[in-house]
Amino acid sequence: MGTHQTSSELFERAGAVVPGGVNSPVRAFGAVGGTPPFMASGRGPYLTDVDGNTYVDLVCSWGPLILGHAHPAVVEALGAAVGRGTSYGAPTPGEVELAEEIVARAPVEKVRLVNSGTEATMSAIRLARGATGRSKVVKFAGNYHGHVDALLAAAGSGVATFALPDSPGVTGAGAADTIVLPYNDVAAVERAFAESGDEIACVIAEACPANMGVVPPRDGFNGRLKEIAARHGALLVLDEVLTGFRVGPSGWFGLEGVTPDLMTFGKVMGGGLPAAAFGGRADLMEQLTPGGPVYQAGTLSGNPLATAAGLATLRNATPEVYDRIDDAAQRVSAAVGTELNAAGVPHRIQRGGSLFTVFFTDAEVTDFDGARAQNTARFAAFFHAMLDQGVYLPPAAFEAWFLSAAHDDAALDRVVSALPRAAKAAAQA
Ligand SMILES: *Cc1c(COP(=O)(O)O)cnc(C)c1O
Repeated sequence: MGTHQTSSELFERAGAVVPGGVNSPVRAFGAVGGTPPFMASGRGPYLTDVDGNTYVDLVCSWGPLILGHAHPAVVEALGAAVGRGTSYGAPTPGEVELAEEIVARAPVEKVRLVNSGTEATMSAIRLARGATGRSKVVKFAGNYHGHVDALLAAAGSGVATFALPDSPGVTGAGAADTIVLPYNDVAAVERAFAESGDEIACVIAEACPANMGVVPPRDGFNGRLKEIAARHGALLVLDEVLTGFRVGPSGWFGLEGVTPDLMTFGKVMGGGLPAAAFGGRADLMEQLTPGGPVYQAGTLSGNPLATAAGLATLRNATPEVYDRIDDAAQRVSAAVGTELNAAGVPHRIQRGGSLFTVFFTDAEVTDFDGARAQNTARFAAFFHAMLDQGVYLPPAAFEAWFLSAAHDDAALDRVVSALPRAAKAAAQA
């Protein structure tokens, strides 16, 4: 087999041994068409594929890389850590330091480290059920919490629905205890609690949803969730796997200030390696094994390479880093608006801190139905025009765009100068 293969050759080879040729579905370009470039390396704001093309990366590994690719501090920390061995299956100093860093930034008293955001939300739900002795979970349509069975139900719209599973393989029983509500709809939450309040273990919500595109909570929404849940003896779990330590030093909490009972983290805190966490009030967290009865464990949890990358990332994520990312997001989103206006393309740019989404629709998007009303053909045309000009956007319309502190003027200029052609392509789609 040749050592130098093109992306299309690799995609074909991958398809023979990996379902769909990818290890996470959105990477397959199903929503935009075409063949995904296979990446060879990343440096600062740039990605280089195996075909030799270089892109300004506006995905940043779907959030983790707030310092950009191969940041020297992260590379150095990893190099030092790997020389000491890759895993011990025993406690390490790095786990303590990373937990302390998280507790210092977010309103949690104790955290447990895990390997993925999915594991974090799965464990938080188990703990909420164990602590309350109740089984039902309230989630919101369009909010993504990883591929946990009970949370893979996005179902209905408009009214409260007892969810049907979103995926074959998730049993009716797995989803039957999940109540799916329209996002940003306090009245629907009140109704669900009026009906089944004494059976609801927790409400889980993205602190600021960004997995249906960025759809910020209406003023006071998260606070109302907390108040309604508390009134009924249920817990609030805010999922900051995406927003945590990305939209600011303390994540969305730092922008809004609602303290939930439990929180989940991931992405940035692993610095590009598999690390995630869930945390919250000490009395709840102490109900986990070994101190309490709620079982939770992990062979590679708190892995020394992952904690080294996470610590190096968080320690270098200074207020200046967040300011730079805010400025870059402002510059890019404003330029997108200007060019789409000039091309006469109906659109709406929604921001949540430095995360933003360009929705190809003209109405404000406040929930999943609104997000789904957009013109995805326009996005696909826009996406490919950007890719052809060396800008790698998230390959789906329902995603946030991600920037890093490494996105300097040269990288941002390249993004901005690609916009007129992409806007024209969107207009013609
Ligand atoms: C990415 C994400 C997850 C899942 O994390 P994985 O590490 O992909 O399992 C959960 N919740 C939110 C809000 C996310 O953005």
